[in-house]
Amino acid sequence: MSAVVSQDVLRLEKVERHYSQGDTQLAILRGADFALKRGEIVALVAPSGAGKSTLLHVAGLLERPDDGEIYLDGEPCGRLGDDQRTAMRRRDIGFVYQFHHLLPEFTALENIMMPQLISGLRQADAADRARQLLDYMRIGHRADHRPSELSGGEQQRVAIARAVANAPLVLFADEPTGNLDPETAGYVFEALQALVRQSGLAALIATHNHELAALMDRCVTLAEGQVVPA
Ligand code: ADP
Repeated sequence: MSAVVSQDVLRLEKVERHYSQGDTQLAILRGADFALKRGEIVALVAPSGAGKSTLLHVAGLLERPDDGEIYLDGEPCGRLGDDQRTAMRRRDIGFVYQFHHLLPEFTALENIMMPQLISGLRQADAADRARQLLDYMRIGHRADHRPSELSGGEQQRVAIARAVANAPLVLFADEPTGNLDPETAGYVFEALQALVRQSGLAALIATHNHELAALMDRCVTLAEGQVVPA
């Protein structure tokens, strides 16, 4: 593999994804190509129903492509078995959704420790890292609160911290600030951007917010099942 290619932490080649709806086939991704470099933050801006979530799920190894290939850090993974995909997802991929999906019975700190414990980290190390991430997201003082005791913006910061707790290669976010007022969305995005910059992650962020999208390194959209510059 050439040095240039290996810079791509994520690469999609000619990815196809179709859904059957009754007798008809919906072709959502039609030979989509896309590459993401280490440290890069890319906005995915497209109308509802265009296939943003589909692209994130396929690229994030949650769904299989019908054709084409996905490379994570140069490794082809579209056709790996379920166990290998799950292991790779846990190690290399973080997801943030519009709604935080934090576990309500656990504190902010414990929610961020959870994926690390599942990955086999010791309790004390997981807690240290969770505290660091909370401080980094400027909500260290909320560590012992449960999600219901946190504001929407704080909940999303915890969700972002949890998504990067295992130091993934790529962070996928599906409308991460879609549920927040514009000012809070701005703060949360700033924190997300700082975290990506600091950790050398790469991020693909689906958003409807054009102002936030303009702050990212570049914007792409979906047109006729292809990823194209926005
Ligand atoms: P977006 O995130 O841009 O709103 P989606 O990726 O969620 O778009 O959906 C793209 C299209 O694919 C929509 O028309 C949606 O109804 C359809 N779709 C998504 N998932 C499925 C599925 N599991 N089965 C059938 N159709 C689906």
